[in-house]
Amino acid sequence: MKQQGILAVVSGFSGAGKGTIMKALLEKYDNYALSISATTRKPREGEVHGREYFFLTVDEFETLIANDQLIEHARYVNNYYGTPRSYVEEKMAEGKDVILEIEIQGALKVKEKFPETLLVFVVPPTAEDLKNRLVGRGTETMEVIEDRMNRAIEEAEVMDSYDYILVNETVEKAVEDLHNLIQSQHMKAENNEARIKQMKEELHAIVGK
Ligand code: 5GP
Repeated sequence: MKQQGILAVVSGFSGAGKGTIMKALLEKYDNYALSISATTRKPREGEVHGREYFFLTVDEFETLIANDQLIEHARYVNNYYGTPRSYVEEKMAEGKDVILEIEIQGALKVKEKFPETLLVFVVPPTAEDLKNRLVGRGTETMEVIEDRMNRAIEEAEVMDSYDYILVNETVEKAVEDLHNLIQSQHMKAENNEARIKQMKEELHAIVGK
């Protein structure tokens, strides 16, 4: 009996290490599909169109919104970000567990539309670690880093809307924790309706009632 895939949203402060965790998870396990978002942000050095993001103009992005081709979209630090609908729907139907790495406003919209979505929020062990990682990445100006630290303060206010908080101490442990969380979702009763129905039918058939 093939189960539909789980939809999991992974959010976290910018610099919490989500990207690294996601990469390691996808390398280790083959049942995950990571959704590639559309954005109007400019590519960072080394980023490739269609791999990290679909880099679009504001006009192109607004056309996707108008055509209902995004599951959700949000503005984050002056840019649009959104999740293309078709990839997510196809992969879930194939039984893949689909992960959206998106920020908090988008996460809450997805949960509203699909209440069975698993919401995981990744945090570094301390706020100091966060600042150090943002500075160490060397890809952002001090101004952007400050924006992102301020944004973290706002996001901390709504972190408790998530189902789980995942503390990123080491990549290996974070990958295992995330994998276990998503896999346990498959065992939830609400994700096993077909199995429950079949079990009832089999019981009735055996007992003859
Ligand atoms: P960055 O510019 O650092 O790649 O991403 C900035 C923020 O946008 C991150 O918190 C990231 O998770 C979020 N983000 C990326 N894609 C999407 C998306 O499709 N929708 C929403 N709502 N947020 C996204």
